[in-house]
Amino acid sequence: MIPYGHQDLSDADIAAVVEVLRSDFITQGPAIPAFEGAIAGHCGATAAVAVNSATSALHIAYLALGLAPGDIVWTSPVTFVATSNAALYCGADVDFVDIDARTYNMSVSALTDKLADAERAGRLPKIVVPVHLCGQSCDMRSIRALADRYGFRIVEDASHAIGAGYLEQPVGSCAYSDITVFSFHPVKIVTTAEGGVAVTNDDALAAKMRRLRTHGITRDPAEMPVPPEGDWVYQQVDLGFNYRMTDLQAALGVSQMTRLKEFIAARRERVARYDEALADLGVTLPWQHPDTQSSFHLYPVRVEAARRKSIFDSMRRRGVGVAVHYMPVHLQPFYERLGFQSGQFPEAEAYYAETMSLPLYSSLSESDQGVVITALRESVR
Ligand SMILES: *Cc1c(COP(=O)(O)O)cnc(C)c1O
Repeated sequence: MIPYGHQDLSDADIAAVVEVLRSDFITQGPAIPAFEGAIAGHCGATAAVAVNSATSALHIAYLALGLAPGDIVWTSPVTFVATSNAALYCGADVDFVDIDARTYNMSVSALTDKLADAERAGRLPKIVVPVHLCGQSCDMRSIRALADRYGFRIVEDASHAIGAGYLEQPVGSCAYSDITVFSFHPVKIVTTAEGGVAVTNDDALAAKMRRLRTHGITRDPAEMPVPPEGDWVYQQVDLGFNYRMTDLQAALGVSQMTRLKEFIAARRERVARYDEALADLGVTLPWQHPDTQSSFHLYPVRVEAARRKSIFDSMRRRGVGVAVHYMPVHLQPFYERLGFQSGQFPEAEAYYAETMSLPLYSSLSESDQGVVITALRESVR
């Protein structure tokens, strides 16, 4: 089966991990700041905090912004469940904003309407989380303007979008947000096996996230409420977690980041081939907003809803590991138990009924991609 995503590991990537295994520090050593520096440098942001997953990064990002019971987080229903689950971890409530029919990202007009209603009801969100679906940036300029008007904070879920651009800046610059989160799961653009990073230009938020990733403990006397008795002292000043990344993972990340340009170029080449080979097929291909330069984590095609299952099954029978991203979060059984229902976010539900992601990764061979193209042509016919 040709998978929908796959890691791309070079001999140099593997050697970087082995080198750490032979060194003095296999966790919390020099590879962590090196990886954080590589991410912050790529993004043009001042700070990056590496943790063991993007889910953890979202959790400490929300906590650092003060999210607590009684608060509410809004995000897109078309995302991986982690985006909203992390808000529930904080005891906050979650709600969703429907998507744009062309980009599949959070719709700015739906957000505008929902904010006006929420203001009247006295229930504005504390944090809004745009998700850069498939690697294409949301309309961050408009969302920033709404944040300034209504006073909410912004966390970008850029799990799909390392290497993407928006208005001539890298996604992760945090020019329009408080914090941006990346995932380094093996299906994503760059991998550390498991891993996530939260990027920010706010030093206080960075310091808070650094404490939260390691039990809420600080070793910096300046952060201690009680003067330390000696150099041996650390103080727990918040309730944090063990969300640390290992040096093995960080070293893999440093090596992978040197290949980011290569990864993005390879994905764009494969996207161009799909765009050309599938243009006449009567299926809807991913549309790109001119303000964005996608990193192309995913390549979703939309087919008639009534035929989606049969086309999906036919692709799988032909050895093509298509996948669906995503069943809208509000339709997950757990979220239905919280009171969400089908019909609440019609564009997200229409998208879900029609979508299927074709295999896309930097090491997808020309012949495997040919198999995918032929399989889709035959399955749709
Ligand atoms: C993968 C993903 C996550 C979670 O990433 P992990 O690193 O696996 O925790 C969160 N949000 C989105 C949109 C994702 O695709």
